[in-house]
Amino acid sequence: MKKGKLIVFSAPSGSGKTTIVKHLLEQKELNLEFSISCTSRAPRGEEVNGKDYYFISLEDFKKHIKAEDFLEWEEVYRDNFYGTLKSEVERIWAEGKNVIFDIDVAGGLRIKKKFPEETLAVFVKPPSIDELKIRLKKRSTESEDKINMRIAKASVELATAPQFDMIIKNYDLDTAKEEASNLVREFIK
Ligand code: 5GP
Repeated sequence: MKKGKLIVFSAPSGSGKTTIVKHLLEQKELNLEFSISCTSRAPRGEEVNGKDYYFISLEDFKKHIKAEDFLEWEEVYRDNFYGTLKSEVERIWAEGKNVIFDIDVAGGLRIKKKFPEETLAVFVKPPSIDELKIRLKKRSTESEDKINMRIAKASVELATAPQFDMIIKNYDLDTAKEEASNLVREFIK
């Protein structure tokens, strides 16, 4: 099977990486397909199983860990497990496409380490922790408790930014989207 490229977008929750990834997926010439992660968390809002995530039970998640089905996995928040199945990347490569990931910082770096040649790892930086707080509150999909957990994790994640191939500062969404498109276009050449 010919390996496509792996494009990783990682960032603290609320940085805008999901919006940027969606924008990249709309550009057909980039030949990208989204890596659908498994998660043990419950669906939020309009999320669809098999599109946004594979929503599975904690028990099934642990079975996949034991069977070594994951390329990487992480307990991102307490009792919320997230992971990329090896079969997901193989499925996308078999279609002759490049894979795009929207995953946390630790997972992103792990993929880069496993596939150093094929991977472009991009870190999306929010303007500040205060701005992140405002964005997460505006999104109002999480409880106050969960927002605080995400903010605490964000401070630790920001320190890993220099380990990525590229950093995009998301101060203005349109500029960040354009920068991301240019980076990916250049990398897949
Ligand atoms: P959310 O609950 O907001 O959808 O995601 C929480 C965090 O988990 C986000 O930073 C998201 O990018 C990350 N995440 C989603 N899928 C995966 C995955 O497969 N592996 C890892 N390590 N993190 C993931």
